[in-house]
Amino acid sequence: MLLFRPTHLLVGDDGPAHTGWGLVVENGRIAAVGPLSDVAPRAGSARAHDLVGTLMPGMIDCHTHVCLSGGVNPVADLEAEGHTRRTVRAIHALAAHRHAGVTTIRDMGGPGGLDLEIARGVREGWLEGPRMLAAGEVVCITGGHACFLGIEADGPDAVRAAVRKQLKSGCDLVKVIATGGVITPGVEPGAAQMTPEELRAACEEARKAGRLVAAHAQGTEGIRNALLAGVATIEHGFFLDAETIGLMLARGSTLVPTFAAGQAMLDGEAAGVPAYMIEKIKRVKGAHIASFQTALAAGVHVACGTDAGTPLNPHGRIATEVELLVRFGATPAQAVAAATGNAARAIGRDDIGLLREGRRADLLWVGGNPHEDVHALTKVRGVWMDGRHVEGPPPQAIPA
Ligand SMILES: [Zn+2]
Repeated sequence: MLLFRPTHLLVGDDGPAHTGWGLVVENGRIAAVGPLSDVAPRAGSARAHDLVGTLMPGMIDCHTHVCLSGGVNPVADLEAEGHTRRTVRAIHALAAHRHAGVTTIRDMGGPGGLDLEIARGVREGWLEGPRMLAAGEVVCITGGHACFLGIEADGPDAVRAAVRKQLKSGCDLVKVIATGGVITPGVEPGAAQMTPEELRAACEEARKAGRLVAAHAQGTEGIRNALLAGVATIEHGFFLDAETIGLMLARGSTLVPTFAAGQAMLDGEAAGVPAYMIEKIKRVKGAHIASFQTALAAGVHVACGTDAGTPLNPHGRIATEVELLVRFGATPAQAVAAATGNAARAIGRDDIGLLREGRRADLLWVGGNPHEDVHALTKVRGVWMDGRHVEGPPPQAIPA
């Protein structure tokens, strides 16, 4: 049994920061949360932990790639490095996320089942988390965006087979590529890729197996195709229009804008990020921000994802994404909810993401109050998973 008495407490919805509240943990779950006078008796004789700063849910990064290096050209790294180094680096990525206050990641695909095996290690308890949901190999068209991260499949039957293969391998979700993208040479972010029939086949197989589908979707036509097929999340969403925003509202889908990825590429022009990536991201940046602002104003659910592993976008920088959500128009409360309660909802988990009685005690203690300044999220003071304190200093970056 544990009793926490923080200066501030954020539930993980977009409600206000509470002062004078406490939280009780019992058997890895939140046993009580509320005004201290109400919850303290529940803790019995348990020693109280006074936390200067804010207690909030452990954050959830809805879009990572533990297989990707985060170097100037992760696509080239993927081809050049061996499987052994990639595996060691992926395990290091887990530590980087954990020490950034992330207690759950949703890994959005990579080759060879690496993410599935790491997720299994975490699930079985012999690898230190964060908790991990893994997509396995992404499903895309031949020569499509991110073909280096997965299976090329053409036609509904081939897509069905590819999705079934991922389900057989134990994926937690299915990732489809509905449009071109930025880091793949020779494809256009605005252009549709998988057809409506292919997307429907993927969603049908996933639904039968009780898995959600996430769509990499940047151009309007591909976003519309993905939403009509039944995906749960739109990743990136550069070119939303009134119709696609209406569809997202009607279907309760979530936008995961992943601003950190584009920003890191723009900031990395001088450092040597490939010119074709820079050219594309410059072209879409304005539309991306405008789409996010329109969607947010319309009430579309937004969740936080970093796309960690993409160029100069290392693992463990979720605070950067939260700060960008605020820079582009979210309130700090909305941005914190995007990294906690909304993120849990987006990935289909009702046992994490909010400080509510009965949920897992995945907790984050930061200095300051993120509702006053989201930069407080970089001041990680303590992380708990299932009520267990995760110790250790932040891992050192891997030299290039
Ligand atoms: Zn991605």
